[in-house]
Amino acid sequence: MNKTHLVINKKALRANYELIRSKLNDDCRVIGVVKANAYGTDAISVAQQLINFGVEHLAVAYIDEGIQLRNAGISKPILVFYPQIDNFKALIDHQLTPSIYSFTALAAFKDVVTKAGRAAFPVHIKVNTGMNRLGFEISELKELSKRLEDKVLNVYGVFSHFAASGTPAHRDFTRYQIDRFQQAVNHFKQDFSSDILFHLSNSSGILSYPEAAFNAVRAGIALYGYGNHPQEDRQLQPVAELFAPIIQLRTVHAGDSVGYERAFMAKKTCRIATLSIGYADGIGRIYGKGCAIVKVNGKSAPTCGNICMDTMMVDVSGVDCEEGDMVKVFGNDHSATSFDAYQQSIAYELITRISDRVPRILK
Ligand SMILES: *Cc1c(COP(=O)(O)O)cnc(C)c1O
Repeated sequence: MNKTHLVINKKALRANYELIRSKLNDDCRVIGVVKANAYGTDAISVAQQLINFGVEHLAVAYIDEGIQLRNAGISKPILVFYPQIDNFKALIDHQLTPSIYSFTALAAFKDVVTKAGRAAFPVHIKVNTGMNRLGFEISELKELSKRLEDKVLNVYGVFSHFAASGTPAHRDFTRYQIDRFQQAVNHFKQDFSSDILFHLSNSSGILSYPEAAFNAVRAGIALYGYGNHPQEDRQLQPVAELFAPIIQLRTVHAGDSVGYERAFMAKKTCRIATLSIGYADGIGRIYGKGCAIVKVNGKSAPTCGNICMDTMMVDVSGVDCEEGDMVKVFGNDHSATSFDAYQQSIAYELITRISDRVPRILK
């Protein structure tokens, strides 16, 4: 491949999945999170791979993402984290499982289920344990039980979300969230059944709080090869590898400038490579002016001047390279975290932003 592309590395995906599994009891289910096009890769092929590995449950952010998987023939249960009330009918038609996080959403969903002539429709109940984003308060669960008595809905899952499971400074807070969730679990076991999927942990929860696994976990970023600190990262393998070709090489001299706004001014003679990738492909302007590093034939090259829409320039002085060479923007031995030289963002943001314009290749 001699043009800009993103490789999805199947072996890395499998290795990350196996690592996650090794942290869990055999009866703990892994919910594979494939929202945002499987963290910027390709939702359909990643979902199919995960199913091949034995994953029984998937999760997406939006109803449309779930529909896309259904249209590709995927029939496993799919949890939708952020369903929109005005789209509930489509969710039911595609047998997706919504997160129900408020009395408003509950009433609206029950209404649509009843009108569709359905009953005991499976849902995951979202409980707020401290993230303060979405979910029922623990104090609301009694009332919630009452409103679920009519069996229009079936409590298939109960879950909550960590605010800072990747931040060691907030260990006590994370433990408090685990305690709160345990209270919710007790409530649902008593009022409903113990045959419910209880899930709290995201990737960093899986890696750092094995005691919080309950009977299911939601694995996102770790599947794609990123943890919360270098030690975790070393055990995981980046799945997405982004490549772009050098489309021109030139020498600039002291006093010459490079790119828009003349943001780079050469102080001495340098060799500049123009790559066929820019902010429209997902490499944000914050990565210009030396704030990111790419690998050219194994050697580091910093960005030079401002990132353009379709191109960016890198300084390849002293690097052996030619026009047509493929440059690794980020990938297995040069993670998105090392690309982001000053840690201005997080791997999540970098990898999910690679735009549709970049072809995906499953390898
Ligand atoms: C995105 C998301 C996850 C996955 O989190 P990771 O940190 O990527 O593992 C889990 N749960 C919810 C509710 C999410 O929105």
